[in-house]
Amino acid sequence: MEAVTIIDVAPRDGLQNEPEVLDVTTRVELIERLLAAGVPRIEIGSFVNPRQVPQMAGADEIARALAARGHNLAARASDDSFRFTALIPNQRGYELAIAAGMRHVRLVLAASDGLNQANFKRTTAESLAEFSQLAIRMYQEGIAFGVAIGASFGCPFDGYVPVERALSIAEHAVDLGAQEIVFADTTGMAVPTQVATLCQMARQRLPRVTLTIHLHNTRNTGYANAFAAWQAGIRSFDAALGGIGGCPFAPRAVGNIASEDLTHMFNGIGVPTGIDLPALLAASDWLSSILGRPLPALTGKAGPVYPQVGIAANYRR
Ligand code: ZN
Repeated sequence: MEAVTIIDVAPRDGLQNEPEVLDVTTRVELIERLLAAGVPRIEIGSFVNPRQVPQMAGADEIARALAARGHNLAARASDDSFRFTALIPNQRGYELAIAAGMRHVRLVLAASDGLNQANFKRTTAESLAEFSQLAIRMYQEGIAFGVAIGASFGCPFDGYVPVERALSIAEHAVDLGAQEIVFADTTGMAVPTQVATLCQMARQRLPRVTLTIHLHNTRNTGYANAFAAWQAGIRSFDAALGGIGGCPFAPRAVGNIASEDLTHMFNGIGVPTGIDLPALLAASDWLSSILGRPLPALTGKAGPVYPQVGIAANYRR
């Protein structure tokens, strides 16, 4: 069966929504453990104002540390997308990312003006206008980029987001040169039928770019949504180790779907991920010990089921 690519966003989306601020060394270790488990793509952080998002301070140091440890920031994953990426909301973030050695970035905006205003203090159209300026520079500077569209399905301020709105933003981004479009269900409002519809239409209208789905398990529809996206032909998935991002002190903020649970699902279906699940589970245990609490992911708790083998011996009770 055709392989899928799992992009681990724990170092960015996961940690950004956790109350603890992990130091650069620990975040680099997290990335190393993900790489050692065979995770093909990693979002290493975001280049944003550290006063607004203190968890992401030092993204430049992380990029430099990875390069110093021999990782090529321009390396490509097996699906020819970039191995390391970082999220940037604006030109300032772009300049910081490039100065730190990043060779691939994901520009981020929200499909709804409400969330875009709340996060970035401007409308969606204003973000797109800045991206069109940036796209010229990125082309000249040889930087590849994707565009992540937050609230592609629904917005906590504006409500339901029409499919056509998310798609027209995606088309605009592809016209600017984006090689990847990430449709993000930022606050976990989507249901599988909605995901299937957007994914099917996006594949028809944007056949030449990588389409990634980014899901949160806010209302426990995350994995059903991932399966619906896969059935609709999506082969690229954002997920976070441990399903982190669900701040225990803010019940409305719930984490990404967990990389290990998604990997486990694809293993069972027979879809290659290239990920070593036991190594990923060990990384998740390590992260749980760092954060000092159980993480939302379930495969490590119940034990992975391997086709023809059953539950791994070390998990049998
Ligand atoms: Zn997210």
